[in-house]
Amino acid sequence: MILYTLHEKSYIDIGQLDSLEDVHVYVNLTNRCPCACTFCLRQTKEMLESNTLWLDKEPTVDEVIKEFQKYDLDDFAEVVFCGFGEPLQRVDDVIQIAGILKLYRQDLPIRVNTNGLANLIHQRDVAPDMKGRIDTISISLNAPDAKEYLALTRSRFGIESFDAMLAFARACLSYVPHVVLTVVDIIGEEKIKKCQSICDELGVTLRVRPFEE
Ligand code: SF4
Repeated sequence: MILYTLHEKSYIDIGQLDSLEDVHVYVNLTNRCPCACTFCLRQTKEMLESNTLWLDKEPTVDEVIKEFQKYDLDDFAEVVFCGFGEPLQRVDDVIQIAGILKLYRQDLPIRVNTNGLANLIHQRDVAPDMKGRIDTISISLNAPDAKEYLALTRSRFGIESFDAMLAFARACLSYVPHVVLTVVDIIGEEKIKKCQSICDELGVTLRVRPFEE
């Protein structure tokens, strides 16, 4: 499933919807991710095998564009790069696809949901690539400090991941109109307050998401 959306609490291919008006279209590009978050659905084998978002093969840029060509971009409320892995593993492809979509509809809002570790993955600063292509970058902050972040995400980059994620958020401020850090509400009020201070210091928005089992 390459282009999907959330419908009645499950994921469905947008081709199965009766109407595409105001739909938020998610682009599923990869299963790869440098993290193994304790709460991630990728952690259970049954989930991997049964989940409709699991990709047997990553779609090429051409295949993704062909999927989009089946629809009228004017109908969409937003396009979001987000799947069963880390979309910025394929940063060049994300940027290329976003650029093509913007050619067809300049005001189409485009968001990337990311773990914010792209600079570690690619060993270069990818934030400038977002300019003019990505309108919102939503980065999982997860926790108020490096130790807790690592315990939750089990990032293969180790303890430096937290600071790298924050540095990426800061860098994105120069290139992306909306930079958002997210946490889930189950971390509790005290930690949410600390996360809010981190966001205030960075000058970005904190979004507290409800935890869904
Ligand atoms: S960063 Fe996202 S995709 Fe990767 S393991 Fe964590 S929750 Fe799953």
